[in-house]
Amino acid sequence: MNALPQFPRPANEPEFNYQADPQGRAELERHLRSTEVVEIPAVIGGQKIFSGDIEEVRAPHDTSRLLARIHRPNEQQVRGAIKNSLAAAREWAALPFDKRATVFLRAAEIVAEVRRHEITAATMLGQSKTLDQAEPDAAGELIDFMRFNVYEAQKVHANQPLTVPGAMNRTDWRPLEGFVYSVSPFNFTAIGANLSCAPALMGNVCLWKPSQKSALANYRFFEILEQAGLPPGVINFVPADPAMATRAVLESPDFAGLHFTGSSQIFRSLWRSIGENVDRYRSLPRIVGETGGKDFVLAHPSADAAAVTTALIRGAFEYQGQKCSAASRAYIPRSLWPAVKSGLQQQLPDLRVGDVAQRETFMGAVIDGASHGRLAARIQKAREDSQASIVSGGRTWTEPGWFVEPTVIEVSDPRHALMRDELFGPVLTVFVYEDNAWADTLGLVDGTSDYALTGSIFCVDRQALLQAETALVNAAGNLYINTKPTGAVVGQQPFGGARASGTNDKAGSWMNLLRWTSPRVIKESYLAQGPWQFTGA
Ligand code: NAD
Repeated sequence: MNALPQFPRPANEPEFNYQADPQGRAELERHLRSTEVVEIPAVIGGQKIFSGDIEEVRAPHDTSRLLARIHRPNEQQVRGAIKNSLAAAREWAALPFDKRATVFLRAAEIVAEVRRHEITAATMLGQSKTLDQAEPDAAGELIDFMRFNVYEAQKVHANQPLTVPGAMNRTDWRPLEGFVYSVSPFNFTAIGANLSCAPALMGNVCLWKPSQKSALANYRFFEILEQAGLPPGVINFVPADPAMATRAVLESPDFAGLHFTGSSQIFRSLWRSIGENVDRYRSLPRIVGETGGKDFVLAHPSADAAAVTTALIRGAFEYQGQKCSAASRAYIPRSLWPAVKSGLQQQLPDLRVGDVAQRETFMGAVIDGASHGRLAARIQKAREDSQASIVSGGRTWTEPGWFVEPTVIEVSDPRHALMRDELFGPVLTVFVYEDNAWADTLGLVDGTSDYALTGSIFCVDRQALLQAETALVNAAGNLYINTKPTGAVVGQQPFGGARASGTNDKAGSWMNLLRWTSPRVIKESYLAQGPWQFTGA
C-alpha cells in the first residue's frame, strides 16, 4: 500500500516496421478494408449515450465511404457530464499518483501491443493520413505522451521545499478544484489523447470534446482508456456541437481550466467567453492553448540548396500541410533560388496524391469540403494576382475526395497575405530576397506574421546563424537549424509557440503538467511553540 514506485525515463516508442512484419501489415489492411460503420456515442460516467442526433464521419479521400456516425449529446447531457465528472473528482484525486499513472501506462501498452493497427487505420481513414504519417502520430506520439507525462509528473511531485530541524515542509500537488475542458483538433490523434490525459494524470477530471473530424480515432483511444481501467467519469467523452458544449461548460462555476489545441481564432473566442464569465467561477481558470502557425523556412546563401529543397517538400507537404508546424512561408536568397526552384519543379510532380491506403501515396486529401473550398479559392486568387505566380501545382479536385495538389507560389511582396495568413493546406509561399539583404530579411521573418510557432534556418555560416538566432528570438517556440520545421518528438523537442500561436506551455513536458495543479504548501511543526514573548538576545 505504501510503496513508492519509481518510473524511469522512457525511450521514445520506435516506429512499427510494417515492411518487416507481414502479420502487422495484414492486420492493418484488415482494419483499412473494414466496412463497419462505427456508432460513436457520448460516454458519460461510463454510460454510452446514443442520442440519435447524428453527424457523419466520411473518409476525406473517398467521401462515398461512411466510416462512423457520431451521436451528438444535447445540452442537458453536456451539463450532466459536468455533474458526473465532479462526482468522480474526489476519489480520483485521492488515488495515489502511481495508481493513476498506471492507467495511462496501461493505455500506452494496449496501443503499442494490442490495438496499434486499429487506431493507426482509424487515423488513416478518418483523417486521411498515409501510413508514414499516421503511425508516428496515433501510435508513436500518443504512446510517448502517456509514458513521458508519467515520468515528468513524477519530477513535478518530487519538487519539494526545504525541511529544517523542528518542522517539516511539503508541497501537496493538488489538482484544480473543478473540472478541465479539453478541446482537441482534428490533425493529430495523439494531441486529443494528451489534452485529456495530461490533466487527468495530475488528478483532474475532464470533459473531452474531440473534433468531429477525428472522432473515430479519438473514440478508439477512449475505448482503450476504459480498457486500461480509467474509472467512469474521470474523462467524459463528449462529441457535442462545439458552440453548444462550450456555452454549457463555460457557464459552470466549476469550470477550472481549458486545455485547447486548434486555431487561434477559436482559442481567442473561448478566451473572450471565459473573460465574460469570470465572475461565475469558483477559481480563476487556467487557460492553455496551442494554436496556429505560419511557419518559416529561412535559407542563408551559405545553405545547401538540396537540403533546403527536401526540407520544403517534407515540411510543407507531408500530411497535406495540415500540421501546425508545416512550412508555409520560405525566404530563399537569389543565388540559391534557381536550384531550389528547379528542385521543387522536378520533384513535386512525383508526389502522389490519392488514396492513403496505397503505399506509394505521399499525400491524402485535405480534411473536408470547407477546407478544400478555402484552399481552392486562395489558389485561384493567386492566379489572378500580379504579385504572385504559381511555381508548381495549383490543381484541386473533388472526386473521390477533397484533393489539393502540392502548390508553390512565389510572391514579389514579402508582406503579401500569403506570407502572413495560416492556410492549413499544401500551399507554400516563397519570397526571394537579395543575398546582401540578410539582416533586412530577418526583420521580415520576425515581423510579417502574427504567429510564432516553428521555423527553420538553413545556414552554414556561424556568424550569420548567430545573428539569425538572436534576431528571431521571439519568432518561434520551436526553432530548427538545418532541418525541417516539423516532426517534434516528445521528450526531445517539447512543443509550443507564443504570440498568436498560443500560451507556449510545451505539451508532453513538466511545463504543461504544472498548469494542471494548484499546489498546497504545508508546514508541520514537531513541537508546540513556546511563550509568545521574544526570547532572543
Ligand atoms: P479548429 O480551431 O477548427 O477546431 C479545434 C477544436 O475547437 C475542435 O474540437 C472544434 O470542434 C472546436 N471548436 C470549433 N468551433 C468552436 C467553438 N465555436 N467553440 C468551441 N470549440 C470550437 O482547429 P482544427 O481545424 O481542428 O485544427 C487545426 C488548427 O489547429 C490549425 O490552426 C493548427 O495550426 C492548430 N494546431 C495547433 C497545434 C499546436 O500545437 N500549436 C497542434 C495542432 C493543430
